[in-house]
Amino acid sequence: MFESLSERLERSFKILKGEGKITEVNVADALKDVRKALIAADVNYKVAKTFIDSVKQKAMGMNVLTAVRPKEMMIKVVHDELAILMGGEAQPINLQGRPAIILMSGLQGSGKTTMSGKLAYMLKKDKKQHKPLLVACDVYRPAAIDQLKVLGDQLEVPVYSEEGNKNPVEIALNAVQHAKAKGNDIVIVDTAGRLAVDEEMMDEIENLKKSLNPSETLFVVDAMTGQDAVNTAKEFNERIDFDGVVLTKLDGDTRGGAALSIRTVVDKPIKFVGIGEKMDALNVFHPQRMADRILGMGDVVSLVERAQQAIDEKEAEELERKLRKNKFDFEDFLNQIQTIKKMGNIKDLVSMIPGVGKAVKDVDIDDNAFKSVEAIIRSMTPKERKEPSLLANQSRKIRIAKGSGTTIQEVNRLIKQFDDMRKMMKQMNAMDKKGMMGKMKA
Ligand code: GDP
Repeated sequence: MFESLSERLERSFKILKGEGKITEVNVADALKDVRKALIAADVNYKVAKTFIDSVKQKAMGMNVLTAVRPKEMMIKVVHDELAILMGGEAQPINLQGRPAIILMSGLQGSGKTTMSGKLAYMLKKDKKQHKPLLVACDVYRPAAIDQLKVLGDQLEVPVYSEEGNKNPVEIALNAVQHAKAKGNDIVIVDTAGRLAVDEEMMDEIENLKKSLNPSETLFVVDAMTGQDAVNTAKEFNERIDFDGVVLTKLDGDTRGGAALSIRTVVDKPIKFVGIGEKMDALNVFHPQRMADRILGMGDVVSLVERAQQAIDEKEAEELERKLRKNKFDFEDFLNQIQTIKKMGNIKDLVSMIPGVGKAVKDVDIDDNAFKSVEAIIRSMTPKERKEPSLLANQSRKIRIAKGSGTTIQEVNRLIKQFDDMRKMMKQMNAMDKKGMMGKMKA
C-alpha cells in the first residue's frame, strides 16, 4: 500500500539531511521533490499545489524551533498535512433508524458486492451484535445476486432477493419490511453498477436513495484507478450527494492518488478501505494512521486494535503465567498460531510494523507461513504436546514427520526452536527474579 509514494517522499526529505536549519531555499528544494512525488502518485494537481503551499507556510513558520532538525521537522509538517488532506479524524457511519439502511453505490467491478459482505461481517462481529440483512438489487446480472448469496452463506448473514423482479426500488422496500419482520437491525443494499457512468444507472441509484432514505449512502471506488476514481466520485456525488467513500483494493495501490485527492475534491470523508479479497480485509479509515503509514511510521495503533480483537485477555494472562513457570508447551504454541491467524493476513500485519513495511514489500509472506509448523504439532499426540521431552524418541519423530507430510529435519528444527525458546524464557525468568531480589534489598 502506497509503497512508491513512501519511497519518493523519503528521498525528498534526504535533501534536508545534515542541514542545520530550515531556510527558504532548502525548504523550496525539498518541496519541489515532494510535489513531484505527489504528482507521480497521481494526486490531483490542484490538490498537490494547495498542499505544498500549506506545508511551506507551516515549515517556515516553525523556523524558531532550532532544537528540532529540519529533516524531522519537515517530516512532521508533511505528516500532519497529509492527515488533514485525508480528512483529519475518522468518520463513523450513521446507523440510526430501525432498521438502519446502508445503500451501496459505485461502478461495476469497484468491489461493491465484496464490500457489502465485508460490512455485514464487520457489523455482525461488532460488540453490539448487529443482525444485518444483505439485499441483492442488481436486477441485470443474475451472477451478481448469486455472488451475494455465496457471501451470505459463507458469513451466515441472510440475503434478500426477488427472482424475476426487475424493479430495484420495489425489491429494496420489500427487503426493509422483511428486515423489520425478521428483526434485522441493519439493511445493506447492494445495487447494480455499470462499467462507466451512464444516465440509467444514475437514475436508478437516485431513485433508490429517494425511496429508501438511507441513513448512510456509501460510494465504493477502486483506489487503483487513481484520478478516474476521483472523477467518478465527483459525478456520483453531484447526483446522489453520498455520505462517505469506500476505497477498495488499497492493497494493490502503490501510489495513493485517490486516497489523497478524494476528500478535497468531493468534500466527503473516506470511511472504509478494502485491503484484500477476504471478508476480514476491511479497515475503518483513519487519516492520521494512513499518514503514519505513508511516511513509513507504520500503523501500530491498527496493529494493536487487531490484536485486541483477536486476543482473549484471560487466555493472555494464563499464557503469561505458563511462560513464567516455564510450562509453555506445544499446545500453547498451536493456540498462539491460531491467534495470529485470527488477526488477519500476515503480510498485512507485518507491514504495519514501523520500518518493516518497506522491507517486506517484495517478500512473499503468506498465510501458509505456519502451515508446516501447524501440521507437525497436530501430528503429535496430546501427551507429546504437553510433554515435549517425549520427542527425544526417534520413532516418535518419524511418525510425526510422516503424519504431517514433512521431513524429519523439519520436525527436528521445530523441536530445537521450541527448546531454544524455553531456554530463553528460563533465563529471562531468572533475570527477573534477580531484579526483584535486588529491588527488595534496596
Ligand atoms: P462489484 O461489481 O462492484 O460488486 O465488484 P466485486 O465485489 O464483484 O469485486 C470485483 C473484484 O474485485 C472481485 O474479484 C473482488 O474479489 C475484488 N476486490 C474487491 N475488493 C477488493 C480489495 O479490497 N482488494 C483486492 N485485492 N481485491 C478486491
